Amino acid sequence: MSVESIESEVVVVGAGLAGLSAARELKRLGVDVTVVEARDRVGGRTLNEPIGGGEIVELGGQWVGPGQDHVLALIRELGLETFPTWCEGRNVFERGGKARTYSGTIPKLNPVSLAEVGVALKRLERMAAKVDVEQPWTQTELARWDAETFATWARRNAKTPAARDLLRLAIQAVWAAEPEDVSLLHALFYVRSSGGSLEKMLDAEGGAQDSRVVGGTQLISERMAAELGDAVHLGHPVRSVRWRQMPGDVGEALVEVGPHPVTVEADGLTVSARAAVIALPPAVAGRLDYDPIMPSVRDGLTQRMVQGTVVKCHAIYSEPFWRAEGLSGQATSADGPVSVTFDNSPPSGSPGVLLAFLEGNAARNATDLPAEERQRIVLDCLVRLFGSRAAQPEHFVDKAWAVDEFARGCYGGYLPTGAWLTYGAGLRAPVGPLHWAGAETATVNAGYMDGAISSGIRAATEIAGGVDR
Ligand SMILES: Cc1cc2nc3c(=O)[nH]c(=O)nc-3n(C[C@H](O)[C@H](O)[C@H](O)COP(=O)(O)OP(=O)(O)OC[C@H]3O[C@@H](n4cnc5c(N)ncnc54)[C@H](O)[C@@H]3O)c2cc1C
Repeated sequence: MSVESIESEVVVVGAGLAGLSAARELKRLGVDVTVVEARDRVGGRTLNEPIGGGEIVELGGQWVGPGQDHVLALIRELGLETFPTWCEGRNVFERGGKARTYSGTIPKLNPVSLAEVGVALKRLERMAAKVDVEQPWTQTELARWDAETFATWARRNAKTPAARDLLRLAIQAVWAAEPEDVSLLHALFYVRSSGGSLEKMLDAEGGAQDSRVVGGTQLISERMAAELGDAVHLGHPVRSVRWRQMPGDVGEALVEVGPHPVTVEADGLTVSARAAVIALPPAVAGRLDYDPIMPSVRDGLTQRMVQGTVVKCHAIYSEPFWRAEGLSGQATSADGPVSVTFDNSPPSGSPGVLLAFLEGNAARNATDLPAEERQRIVLDCLVRLFGSRAAQPEHFVDKAWAVDEFARGCYGGYLPTGAWLTYGAGLRAPVGPLHWAGAETATVNAGYMDGAISSGIRAATEIAGGVDR
């Protein structure tokens, strides 16, 4: 294979929201930038899938909500619009083989369980307020929260099975993982980073699932890539990164050493640059071959930051039939394997689209099944939740992110016990001329599209501070 060689001031690895935001910001600051992307498309963990009639469904990230200022501003800047998530009507909650309807965020449980969930959510908010999102790894006083999983905390703080089930569903919905997987400190970091309230993170109206982007969120990346033009190189998986140690501080990196301390080697393309932004999920960044190898804190971090496991499924019907029955299309099932559903119809309301998530263990069990088998188990659930009409969609589209070569899981990375305090410092600190971006590295709305965008801008600013011109 012939290999093209490019010299650039800065190379960005990954054309998701973080990489493209970094490149856009660098360009705005007058820095020459080259973006190298493995796939033949931009957008990374956002992905539009056409479903006919000019409509799409989003197989990756889709919702935006209040407090997500970076993504909302970018949507406006790029001439895109949002519309409210379809959520009028009653929600469905299924547990122990019984489906009941309710309104609001928290399903109707027996009063004791409901009280337990309410108290647990308040406690979590109070604890989250103590986490320093900039550098939780310095908070040795929080070591006991990093030493236990969310599951052990939930067992102490919720005694009734129904309350425990609801807390499990909340963890699955936010991290696509099980409460046993996630460090309590990680959960608290995330809650704080997202504004301080787990309940808001689960809400549609006024919460993290408030609105969607007309035409789909992948348009955000496509429009940024169009602005960057020839600077974006698609279809070149990066395999290795050779870099030279910098003398002096990070800010001096671009000034002090020779012209090309970084060489990024991709299939068919080599880019030499004065600095790099690696805008990949940490678990994916850890699979690149670094020469010299990363400091142990960085290498240890990328070994420990696990990607969640989710299968995002869409059943597409000629019309949103559930609305006629007064249902919102939103359902939560403790019986599974589908944990949560939403009405994901386009702004026109037609066709009718039910979105169903398999998360955590349910996704782990379903990812390697044949596609028809996955479809069958999802439709069986939708029938229990919405009746027999759910059995016959016109189309069914899903994506199992754990077997996506360039994501290795979703929604994003989380830390198990013991990792924040020991390896957290490796998350964002530049290593010589290498700077890290990506949703996981954000301090505000970490793990969300909003965090991905702000992380790219932060990495660009770190680098531009050192440009000698
Ligand atoms: C199913 C699902 C639902 C979600 N729902 C929401 C939601 O509703 N709201 C929300 O805010 N967020 C949501 N998210 C999370 C959100 O999509 C991500 O946080 C965000 O898109 C991450 O952007 P990023 O740029 O940090 O990473 P990515 O999008 O992962 O970008 C990394 C890029 O690097 C590329 N790459 C990987 N390896 C290499 C390599 N070796 N060489 C070159 N390029 C490489 C990838 O192809 C990709 O383009 C969801 C994610 C998923 C998957």
